[in-house]
Amino acid sequence: MEITIIGAGLAGCEAAWQAAAEGCTVKLYEMKPQRFSPAHESEGLAELVCSNSLRGAGMNNAVGCLKEEMRRIGSLFIEAADATAVPAGGALAVDRDEFSAYISKKIEQHPNIELIREEITSLPTEGSIILASGPLTSDALSDELAKLTGSEHLYFYDAIAPIVEADSIDYSIAWRASRYDKGGADYLNCPLNEEEYNTFVQALLDADKVEGREFEKLIHFEGCMPIEEMAARGPQTLAFGPMKPVGLDDPRTCRWPHAVIQLRQDNKHASLYNLVGFQTRLTYPEQQRIFRTIPGLQNARFARLGSMHRNTFVNAPNCLTKTLQLKNAPHITLAGQISGVEGYVESAACGLLAGIFAAYRMREEREPLPPSETALGALLTHLSEAEAENFQPMNVNYGLFPPLQLKRKMKRADRRLAMAARALEILPSWWQPIAEKREGRRHE
Ligand code: FAD
Repeated sequence: MEITIIGAGLAGCEAAWQAAAEGCTVKLYEMKPQRFSPAHESEGLAELVCSNSLRGAGMNNAVGCLKEEMRRIGSLFIEAADATAVPAGGALAVDRDEFSAYISKKIEQHPNIELIREEITSLPTEGSIILASGPLTSDALSDELAKLTGSEHLYFYDAIAPIVEADSIDYSIAWRASRYDKGGADYLNCPLNEEEYNTFVQALLDADKVEGREFEKLIHFEGCMPIEEMAARGPQTLAFGPMKPVGLDDPRTCRWPHAVIQLRQDNKHASLYNLVGFQTRLTYPEQQRIFRTIPGLQNARFARLGSMHRNTFVNAPNCLTKTLQLKNAPHITLAGQISGVEGYVESAACGLLAGIFAAYRMREEREPLPPSETALGALLTHLSEAEAENFQPMNVNYGLFPPLQLKRKMKRADRRLAMAARALEILPSWWQPIAEKREGRRHE
């Protein structure tokens, strides 16, 4: 009953904690302090590499719901966060050193976990392995993973375009069509006349941008170039690129507009749409300000804003089973950012599931999948059911949850609270049997 975990970051520590709670023996490998990724600085486990915020605490935000589920399950990540919280308004933020020290101590003291400070440079060919080496996984390990997934399914950067909530789009302006009516009316199209286009391009050029960190400057921008860089190449570059209007008759004018921004359905429930080709390094406030000048998006609510980061992750819908195993090497389970989730909390949540799943497999029991109505289940479902062709890492959000069956109209804020209430009500049907089995094993 031994599980090997590579990487003692957010996902790896949570996976180790859960697998150990399931009665497994865990060997947890961490390459620090022998070697540091370009973003890691401290020797401690579960290091927060950037912000000290674990985002919204309230149920109006899906990450608040995810954290509450994890809290009810006995997640080490949340236990440490609650114990080391600092004042942060409506968010849960932590003292990063205390947070890391709390988790390090718990892991080091656990009788079922052996922490080994050593870099793993090749993927074991047998045993039960959880790979949780994070978004900055070293080249040697990435090369091995690429061999198992096929290099076209392993990415080294995320070029994330903003996503808007479908019910915040103005459908009196945006219209549904595909270019030259080919392949159904799959896209929503927002038209810009010449003046609107010129103003938009100028706003992109003048906007505040996020500077990439030193190790992120190697990005190959061709093919996934940020829109502001394209705009800087010439005033009409965007109109001949991601904003080209050809084949798109605006039903209000029966003509092609000067430029068009296309939105593509982003989730099964059609509650989210992404701005096609709009990966960007503009700051978040600038994105909200400028993208709301697009006709049809004047009241847009953004489920996710654009970004470009160094990030190693697999094309989860193509490469992973529903239980996070590599399809081509099922003895390896992926956890954390490398599996295609995005964010500190989501990485830890993924580690939590990976630890439980791996333990069940060791006992030759079927892995318990969390219901898709829960935040944990919604996150997992996204990994297996997102559209593989345009897969990008995703923070948890209510657009990933199955819609509510509503008998009467409900305000958006109330809908979110109702989704959270449904999640927390359903959670015990999944968690209780796991907890009872754990309790039973403790008394054996
Ligand atoms: P990590 O926490 O990175 O853990 C991986 C661990 O594996 C590390 O300790 C590493 O040393 C170890 N390791 C790697 N390779 C090996 C090996 N071969 N052998 C042994 N050990 C190994 N998310 C947010 O929510 N908020 C943010 O502000 C934020 N900022 C980010 C900034 C940067 C620069 C990056 C790259 C990502 C950021 N993220 C942020 C995204 C993501 O949430 C974090 O990277 C998160 O830490 C991912 O958790 P993880 O467990 O997958 O990986």
